[in-house]
This record gives sequence, C-alpha cells and structure tokens, in this order.
Amino acid sequence: MKHTLDRLRRPLRDLRISVTDRCNFRCVYCMPKQVFGSDYQFLERSEILQFEEITRLARIFRGLGVEKIRLTGGEPLVRRNVEQLIAQLSAIPGLDLTLTTNGSLLERKAAVLAGAGLKRVTVSLDALEDATFKRMNDVDFPVAKVLAGIDAAAAAGLVPVKVNMVVKRGMNEKDILPMARRFRGTGHILRFIEYMDVGHTNGWRMDDVVTARDIVEAIGREFPLEPADPNYAGEVAQRWRYRDGGGEIGVIASVTQAFCRDCTRIRLSTEGKLYTCLFATAGHDLRAPLRGGADDAALRDTVAGVWTARADRYSEIRSSHTARLEKIEMSYIGG
Ligand code: SAM
Ligand code: SF4
Ligand code: SF4
Repeated sequence: MKHTLDRLRRPLRDLRISVTDRCNFRCVYCMPKQVFGSDYQFLERSEILQFEEITRLARIFRGLGVEKIRLTGGEPLVRRNVEQLIAQLSAIPGLDLTLTTNGSLLERKAAVLAGAGLKRVTVSLDALEDATFKRMNDVDFPVAKVLAGIDAAAAAGLVPVKVNMVVKRGMNEKDILPMARRFRGTGHILRFIEYMDVGHTNGWRMDDVVTARDIVEAIGREFPLEPADPNYAGEVAQRWRYRDGGGEIGVIASVTQAFCRDCTRIRLSTEGKLYTCLFATAGHDLRAPLRGGADDAALRDTVAGVWTARADRYSEIRSSHTARLEKIEMSYIGG
C-alpha cells in the first residue's frame, strides 16, 4: 500500500492529532463563548482515544509515510499527562514531533515536554496588549504569561519557537507591527494567519480577513523583507526574511492564496475520526475498528483508502455559500 501512496501527487506527510476538544480559552474566532458556554457538551472520557490507541495509530501512519506529527486540540496542554503520550510517540523512529498551544500552561510544562521527547512548539499569540488579547481570547489571560511560556520553551530547547498570530480586522491588525518588532531578532518565527471560515460558529465574513499581502506590505515598509525559499515542498507558510538579518516571518494565506494542491495533511480527531480537510463536514471513524479488534494491516488499508480517495480543495472553491456550510469546528480538529 505504501507503493500506492508514493504514486500520489499528494504524499501523506503530516498528521495532526487533536488530543482534547476542551480549552481554557474562548477565542472569538475559534470557540465563541455564546456557543462554547458552560452547557456545551464536550466529549466524554470513554469517547476519547487513549494514549495507547493514539500511539498505535501513529505507528500505522508512520508506516504510510507520515514524517511529522503535531499535537493540537482544543488546548493540548489541558489533556492530563499529555507528556506521557509524547514519550510514547517519541519512541517511534523517524518522527518530527511538535505541538501547538495557546501557551497558557507552557511556562510550567516546557521542560517536562522537552524531556519527554517533544522537538518544537508553536505558540498562538494574537496581540501584545492585554486589552486586545483579552478581546481575542475572551478569558482575560495576561500576555506576559504567554511570553514567559515562549521563553521557557526556548530555554528547554524547543526551538525555533513559532508564534502564530491570527489577524482579524477590527480586532488586532494594529498589533501586527508591534508583534513584528517584538519577535525580530529573537530567533522565534512569527507567522501571521489569515482569519479562516473554519467551523460554522465564528460568524466569519470575508471583510474580516486581513490579507497576507497587506501584512507583508505593512511590515516591509518598516523593515524591508525579501522572499525566502520554502523549507520543504508543500510548506504552508510563505517565508519572508528581514533584509537586515533580523530573522524571518511567515504568512499563511489560506484564504487569499489557496494551497490545496500541495496539501499533505491528515487529521485525527480526539474521538478517532479521520479528516483529510480542515473544512470537512464528515470524518471517517477509526475508533470503532480500533476497539473492535481490527489488526494493523486492516487499519493501514483503511487509512490508505481514505487518503487515496481524497479530492478536497475547499480553499480553492471557497465562496459565501461554502462559508455557511456546517463544517467541523477548529477546536475539534485543531488546525
Ligand atoms: N489551542 C491551541 C492554540 O490555540 O494554539 C491549539 C489549537 S488551535 C485550534 C490551532 C491554531 O488554529 C491556533 O494557532 C489558532 O490561532 C488557529 N485558529 C483557530 N481558529 C482559527 C481561524 N478561524 N482562522 C485561522 N486560524 C485559526
Ligand atoms: Fe482554544 Fe486554541 Fe481555539 Fe483559542 S484557538 S479557543 S486557544 S483551541
Ligand atoms: Fe488542505 Fe482542505 Fe486546507 Fe485545501 S482547504 S489546503 S485541502 S486542508
């Protein structure tokens, strides 16, 4: 079956595993409080894949060519003992193991995560000013704690730290330049993400998107930039280098410059459903066969079948109609 996957135009390289659908933030563009309130029904413990189940599937994905696993969520650091999962996954040879976090628990956990075998982290941070950050995360969490988490990650060797900033018009575009100034020369890589119409609860409108082009132009006016080559084929972020040697930034233009053609990602939800696209409306259940006694070969064939049948290209066909579809939520699938 590996042979079949190799022949595909889109090789299967990246696996994103959501380890929880819960989060201690309520970002307005991801888990708006009016939907994810105190009565929201998160997954029950019995529905969630256990660490051993995740690790077994990860080995199967590795056998199909996956080189990189990113743990995500919800907030992956709120999953109890997540470092034990990292230790199990890091025993699989040839895997690059990373994690995306809101940074709130990172100061406390960075050393333990690195010790368990995590290689790098991506930290989401949308503003440098507490008032704006609060408007974005809706839980009044201080920026300083996230910055301390970034420092702790760097000190633990989880480098380079990537910092993700989702830009939403009318919310935080005034923070673009302060963020660029703050992270220039630190060795951390700041990446600006176009606000996307993931899920169907965030009330996305095209007018709220600040385009990657505008972001690069704004930063380039203060600090001249030049394009840099991708690190690898299918890299999602476009790289830009400061001409004066101050490091680099990235822009992820998933709305204005679709990159479906090169999409090498697959996603495993907290409850064991497989999704080939961030904007999917339905997934393929792996938990039932996993718990029903399927052997590795059968699971491998199922995954390979899902991947070879994939034809998604949501970002290339996005319209005001598709934006209204009942898609899975970002907090469920993790980006
Ligand atoms: N809780 C973790 C965090 O915030 O980093 C991991 C999960 S979060 C869903 C993964 C990434 O998706 C974050 O960088 C977040 O900023 C991004 N994200 C969430 N909703 C988004 C949206 N509507 N458009 C663009 N990016 C979004
Ligand atoms: Fe939580 Fe991350 Fe979604 Fe924000 S973006 S609500 S931190 S899962
Ligand atoms: Fe991949 Fe779907 Fe995003 Fe296109 S829209 S790049 S297919 S996840």
